[in-house]
Amino acid sequence: MSIESGAELQRDQAGRLRHLLTLEGLTRDELQHLLDLAQFYVRVPGELPARDQSLWGRTVANLFFEPSTRTRVSFELAAKRLGADVVNLDMQSSSRVKGETVLDTIYTLQAMLVDVFVMRDAEPGLPAYVSAHVAPHVSVLNAGEAHLSHPTQGLLDVLTIRQRKGEVRNLSVAIVGDIRHSRVARSTSRALLTLGVGELRLVSPASLAPEPGELEGARRHHSLAEGVAGADVVMALRIQRERMADADTVDPETFYREWGVTAENLRGARPDAIVMHPGPMNRGVEITSEVADGAQSAIRQQVTNGVAVRMAVLATIVRNVQERNVEAGRRAG
Ligand code: ASP
Repeated sequence: MSIESGAELQRDQAGRLRHLLTLEGLTRDELQHLLDLAQFYVRVPGELPARDQSLWGRTVANLFFEPSTRTRVSFELAAKRLGADVVNLDMQSSSRVKGETVLDTIYTLQAMLVDVFVMRDAEPGLPAYVSAHVAPHVSVLNAGEAHLSHPTQGLLDVLTIRQRKGEVRNLSVAIVGDIRHSRVARSTSRALLTLGVGELRLVSPASLAPEPGELEGARRHHSLAEGVAGADVVMALRIQRERMADADTVDPETFYREWGVTAENLRGARPDAIVMHPGPMNRGVEITSEVADGAQSAIRQQVTNGVAVRMAVLATIVRNVQERNVEAGRRAG
């Protein structure tokens, strides 16, 4: 299943977003709308969370076939804060292991009146495949698909950048590390490029660069010093060993020496640059604790924004489906 087919499949006949499978194909206005709504839902630690009833009466099922902490918990909190019922299935020990197909699991949950499936999988194609088979009132949200796509992470990254540094068109953003295996790098880059980022740099060893022809519009750098020079935003990524056939060839100590984001090499970026990381972090490999916990770090703000972005996505998708149902009802009546 190609990324393009995900971009087409995620809309209903009227062109409304019914699923969120990828950020490919979303317009600048659609991204701005989601970011503005997310901003409305942002509350900082110490405040009461934003709540409303946009998902009242709805049921959201989290189906994660790969480990997740931040994304799974934030989807759960987001759905609950919008008034939904939420079920979390541990798919690593679920029916798929017992031989039930994923579609049987989906149909079973659909029969229990689940309205939204939030899915993460190590293989490409599952969210799009499921979205093509669910009932018309049901939506699928991609919570991480292989190395390809992690749309809500892309949105929360851009929201964080916008809050800290203003409009992205004035900014130089450097994404550093294992880009090749990173769905975060792909989705965040897509959002930044659609929003007209000033400059996007993909900074990695040649062996961890994206495939040739991918992410046109970004510049590739194979030197950390060159890649972060004068940057406004530096985002570090971990080595994603689980997606490498030859993981043993990447030695963490060598990687740290050449690609680790340290206070020293951050001095080459702008003095007011921010540092980001999608988590989970490997301290002392792609980033030092000094940087991760330092004044320039926006890493916890990313986590806070993750809940707000997922609230915005859930509220938007469910509203779109409601609109579609009303129109379908009118046509039938
Ligand atoms: N949590 C992010 C993801 O699911 C980043 C990572 O795992 O390194 O892709």
